[in-house]
This record gives sequence, C-alpha cells and structure tokens, in this order.
Amino acid sequence: MMNPRTAGKILLEWYAGARRDLPWRKTRDPWRVLVSEVMLQQTRVSAVVPYYERFLERYPKAEALAEAPEQELLALWSGLGYYARARNLQRAARAIAEVGRFPETYEEIRELAGVGEYTAAAIASICYGQPHAVLDGNVVRVLARATAERGDVAASSVRVRLKEVAQRLLDPRRPGDFNQAMMELGATVCLPKGPQCLLCPWREQCQGRAEGIQAELPVKLNKREPVKLALELCVMVKEGRVLLRQRGSGESRLAGFWELPELRDVPAAEREGCAGSFKHSITRHDYSVEVWRAQPAKAPKGFRWISWDELAELPLTTMSRKALEMIPEYPQR
Ligand code: SF4
Repeated sequence: MMNPRTAGKILLEWYAGARRDLPWRKTRDPWRVLVSEVMLQQTRVSAVVPYYERFLERYPKAEALAEAPEQELLALWSGLGYYARARNLQRAARAIAEVGRFPETYEEIRELAGVGEYTAAAIASICYGQPHAVLDGNVVRVLARATAERGDVAASSVRVRLKEVAQRLLDPRRPGDFNQAMMELGATVCLPKGPQCLLCPWREQCQGRAEGIQAELPVKLNKREPVKLALELCVMVKEGRVLLRQRGSGESRLAGFWELPELRDVPAAEREGCAGSFKHSITRHDYSVEVWRAQPAKAPKGFRWISWDELAELPLTTMSRKALEMIPEYPQR
C-alpha cells in the first residue's frame, strides 16, 4: 500500500521538473480548461494544440461560442473528430451564457452538456482547487500498475477501487497539480506499451514493479477486435469545384458534414487514376481508403459542386480532407 503523503510529495516534485509546457497549463480560466479537456478526450496532445489556439481565438468566452452558427463551429473543429464533443461544447456554452457565469462546484460543472465525472473533476480541481481526483485512461493504467491491480479495469468494481485509491492519494492542498501530475506520469512515463520504470518517480513505491508484473497490467478482458473495411473515394473536379454531399441531419455520425462520394455512388464516373491511399480509424473501424480521380460526370442526387473558397468555410469529414490533400488542386492544407 502506497503512503499517500510520501507518494504525493514525490509525484509533485517530479511534476515540477517534468511537466510539458502546454498552452492550457498557463491558465485557470475554467472556459479555457473546459475547451482543452473536451478536445483532449480521445485525441493526442500534439493534434489538439493548434486547434485549441485557433478555437479560443474565435471563441475566447463561452458567450462567443453560444452565438456561433453550427456550420462555423464544425468547420473549425473539422479534423479533430468525435464531433458530438463540439456540439455538446456549444450546448454547455449556451448554458453558461444563460446563467452569466461558469459553474463553480463539481456538481454544477457536471451538469454541463458533455461533461462527465472526469472532466468535472479536472475543472473543479485545476480551476477551483477542489479535492476531486480524476480517473482517465492514463490514471487507470498508472494506478493499476502502482497497486498491482489484477482485476479487469473495465469492471465497475475495479474502477471504484481505483477511484478510491486516486482520491486517497490526492493532495488536498494542490489537487489540480496532483491530478495533472498523475495524467502526465501516464502520458510520458508509465506508457501503455512499455512503462519506463527506471525514469519513474514511483519506482520504489510501485507494487506492480516490485512484483515484476507491471507490463501485464492493466488487465483488459473482452477487448473487441477492430473491424477492417475498404473504401474507394472519388475525387471529381470541374472548373475549380469539387463534387461533395452534405450528410443529413439524421445521420448518427458526422451529421451536417460534407464528404466526397464513394466510387460506387457515381457509377457513371470514369476512373482516371489512383491518387494514393491511407488508413483511417473511427472508433473500432479501421478503414483502408483508396483515392481515385475520375472524369467529371453528372452529379448524382444529393451531391453538389462546391468551390474551393466555399469549402474553406464548410465542415469537411476528416477522411475526405485526407483524400483531398492527395490532389494538387486542393488549396486548404
Ligand atoms: S514504476 Fe513503472 S509501472 Fe510503476 S508507475 Fe512507474 S512507470 Fe508505471
């Protein structure tokens, strides 16, 4: 069993010297922290940084996002994926604007759209110094190893146990720094595929390492295999315009986004040549995508010719953006 006081002190000392200089670490403004936490859900830090800065330039306050047209918001978010996050963030912004202030307690923050236990705890601790421990994927991994937890981390009983450990270890005087230090340890040292124990501030405290089982933890049973799919996208350009369609508002994913046709959508299209291929993953679907140039053909029902200028203001699916980046005419790089 780790001693909370010692473990916390060691961790915070390590964090003071090892923390990465990230833009959202320079602020305690809850709006900015909320934006960063929402963007970081399921997305790598390096991918988030440029989006975070552009987003806050356009929407420095919740009120600015509350009033923004949805297409503008989605165009700005385009490429980050998981677009329900953007829509929820706008709903949260509207709720904040309506009340006229950012909520200040964990319970109130938790009420915002798209905000779960993790995000509420992160904001409450970082912005308001409230003692709520976070439990994200990084923290789960670190704690499962540090306490030699052999249970399936997807099981709620194990999550509850790990949450209790996190709460016990949390330094109530510096909960925001402590939470960020835990996440930093998971993101930079206690890595999913190879814990760097020799560099770890907890190497003497870690039970998993003491037992030599750290690399086998955390235990994840019933991990679902990814589904492999193949797609052929079709790029047709006519007089500076490209053929696209807008996904309907009833679509379960990417509603309102614009996308390229698949070759099978335009049976009259004559293939000119393959512009390249790429891999793209959406949740547990792994796509192998081939990008085909084709002679302009009659636009099938539901598709439109969109100019490059017009496209710059529209939300485009990441897969279509990746495909368009393979053709020389595409100006938005
Ligand atoms: S000692 Fe190794 S396994 Fe334990 S917390 Fe540190 S990096 Fe992770």
